[in-house]
Amino acid sequence: MSLIFLIFRLEARMLNDYEQRLACYMENNFVRENLEYCPFCGGSLTAYFTLTSRFFSERACKSAHPRVVSVLSCSSCQSMLFNADFTQEQMHNLYQYYRGKDYFLMRHKYEPWYTNKINKGIGDEKEFDLRRKVLIKNLEENNILNNFKYVLDHGGDKGQMISPSGGLNAEFRAVCELSGVDTEEGIIRVSQEQTREIDWDLILSCHVIEHLPDPFSYLKDILALGNGDTTYFFEVPYEKHVISYFCSQPRYVSWLNFLSRNERLMMLFDFYSVVTRKIFKRVFLGGFTALREHLQFFTIKGFSELLNSSGFNVVYCSVGEAGHIIAIAKKK
Ligand SMILES: [Zn+2]
Repeated sequence: MSLIFLIFRLEARMLNDYEQRLACYMENNFVRENLEYCPFCGGSLTAYFTLTSRFFSERACKSAHPRVVSVLSCSSCQSMLFNADFTQEQMHNLYQYYRGKDYFLMRHKYEPWYTNKINKGIGDEKEFDLRRKVLIKNLEENNILNNFKYVLDHGGDKGQMISPSGGLNAEFRAVCELSGVDTEEGIIRVSQEQTREIDWDLILSCHVIEHLPDPFSYLKDILALGNGDTTYFFEVPYEKHVISYFCSQPRYVSWLNFLSRNERLMMLFDFYSVVTRKIFKRVFLGGFTALREHLQFFTIKGFSELLNSSGFNVVYCSVGEAGHIIAIAKKK
């Protein structure tokens, strides 16, 4: 009996610690270094050694040398996140003129498989068509009437997801987008300040959260834009994979340092890792999960827990037909 009581007390204490840490993330800037537990669900973490990509090092950090970092994998929700912290200036360097000519040329130089077609293809009409169908189908299946007054796509590029020709019925369509790209016809650009002045019926955040050093403060801001009736639609990539046990061993750092000093060899093993992740959903011995742009890789459980702990009531969360994790949520 006393053992059961002890386990119960320990679990209660762990939960309490986790809730305290979550409250801390919500109030302050989220710091990744020295994380002991999964920030999304509170599960235990295993660290695997890896490298920042040469592209990331040069563009974001202005350094010719890739850096050894760790990617943390949660034993409970199987989500992953990099434990490295980056400055606002480094993030600005990375995303300024995002996917522009200089971005493409530098990335293609170190990742020849990242072709111009891929650079332009991200966001092409065929992909958007499928993603819009997933959005509308899932709103309808969750009994949310496709007839909105005010719709906001936060970080929504040109507004392709909420395009008037895309099947979403709305009177006022807006994007809040920092990149400065021109919006599509029928889409109005709003500033961060203006987003707070409108009672939104539908707020989308697609392919934003995986890029953020601090997803907690972002979600707190997004939550504050809505009211009890607002529907939220989230979309993040589904990039779940398993990393070889050998990558968690301290001696693996020597191999990664060796790779980082050999441009061609690193390129080869980077490509090998991209291929094995794509085909087998695994990174094998010799490979690494490069830090490029995504700072976290979510699973359905991890993403649901993140939304839940950030003040959202998750109505639905799954992997949609476009291969991405989608979630529909309301304000708690
Ligand atoms: Zn977790």
